[in-house]
Amino acid sequence: MLDVKTAFLLWVTQAGTFSILLIAIWLHAPNQRHYLWFGLGFAGHALGLGLIAARNEIPDFISIHMANFISLSSFSFWVVGLATFDGRRPPRLYLLPPLLWTAANLLPFIRAEFAYRFAVYDIASSIGFAIMAFTVGKSAFSTIRYRQMLALVWILQAIGGIVFAGLAIRLMPSSFPDLTIKAHVGLVAIVGFVTAIVILAKMLMDQSEARLRELACTDPLTGALNRRGLNDAFEQMTGTSDKPAVALLLFDLDHFKQINDRYGHQTGDLVLCEFARLCTSLLPQGAAFARTGGEEFAAMLGVAEARDAALVAETARLAMAERKIPAGAVATSVTVSVGIAVSTVAEATLDQLMKNADKALYRAKAQGRNRTAVTNGKRVVTLPPHRTDPLDDQADHQVAILKRLASVAGSDNS
Ligand code: GH3
Ligand code: MG
Ligand code: MG
Repeated sequence: MLDVKTAFLLWVTQAGTFSILLIAIWLHAPNQRHYLWFGLGFAGHALGLGLIAARNEIPDFISIHMANFISLSSFSFWVVGLATFDGRRPPRLYLLPPLLWTAANLLPFIRAEFAYRFAVYDIASSIGFAIMAFTVGKSAFSTIRYRQMLALVWILQAIGGIVFAGLAIRLMPSSFPDLTIKAHVGLVAIVGFVTAIVILAKMLMDQSEARLRELACTDPLTGALNRRGLNDAFEQMTGTSDKPAVALLLFDLDHFKQINDRYGHQTGDLVLCEFARLCTSLLPQGAAFARTGGEEFAAMLGVAEARDAALVAETARLAMAERKIPAGAVATSVTVSVGIAVSTVAEATLDQLMKNADKALYRAKAQGRNRTAVTNGKRVVTLPPHRTDPLDDQADHQVAILKRLASVAGSDNS
């Protein structure tokens, strides 16, 4: 049978290896902080258990009090890691396991008795497992199934800890070799530890894969979708939309080359980002927004009729024309032309929508820019670009746009 010291050293090696691996991953991807916290948790676990294993060879204060404190602080790091992975703050109680250990050891009868210290350690680690289960239970990462599995493993470990604490108090062992329940403690700990790590590794891998998929569909400058992302969004929208029609809005910034020439490429980039931000904030929920070329963007949305799409386009166009964008010491503004195509969901193909929207966009440019045109069957209708009413708030804004839309309904200016 393995002696206690060898078992501790095996455990230390395992936790130490995980720690190095996780911290190396974090160094490679520093913005993914959860790897650092998980790594520090394993480092604390390895160091704490290593110091416990060195009992009788180093001062008791280090091998008992500090070692258990360090080992229990791993729970705090892991809880912070889980919360960071979920993009949240850790629950307030995350420091409880090491603090409980320290507080209990202020009591002389606990400090002096191995069995009581063992029980306190087990209760503190049970609380640690319970906080981890609670944190993962409140999280939204990965799938609910994996989160439930992880929470269950930690709840079982928390229960195991309480049971072993009770047994230690009943059997009153005087040292580790005297601990007749140690094989069971070790088995529960190892099975729980390995199961939790396998589930967590699967969650982390799934998340990396999802991030890669997202990156492959995203424009790095503006964060909008790229063409591939727009293709996917089209497939998804036409497969699931509860609206009868789908609209494609093509946006092309007007005289954008002049912005680059006058204020530099960096200001040009700022204008692109600003436009993307503005559209993303104005588009209805469920709409997709993509950068389809240098200064060309596309929005796709489910609509009841072409008017809905024109309203969105005009809202974005007017908002962009009003926006002041810092360009060095001055502020500039940029206008945008929009081409719209609409098709019933059943008949829609992205290719045809693109062609029709492009035709409308060409017309909007040819008629003077800073305006919206809609391809409607074989006709292209251009909306009058100027507001006639003074506009106070968003509601008036939309009423005015609707009035202009109504004024062109039926008229043929193709
Ligand atoms: P129009 O009103 O006819 O659309 O004129 P335009 O100047 O906007 O169109 P044109 O196609 O002549 O010029 C597009 C410019 O967009 C040229 C290119 O330098 C610039 N551009 C393309 N991609 C980027 C980018 O990522 N960043 C910046 N700053 N400029 C870009
Ligand atoms: Mg262009
Ligand atoms: Mg342009």
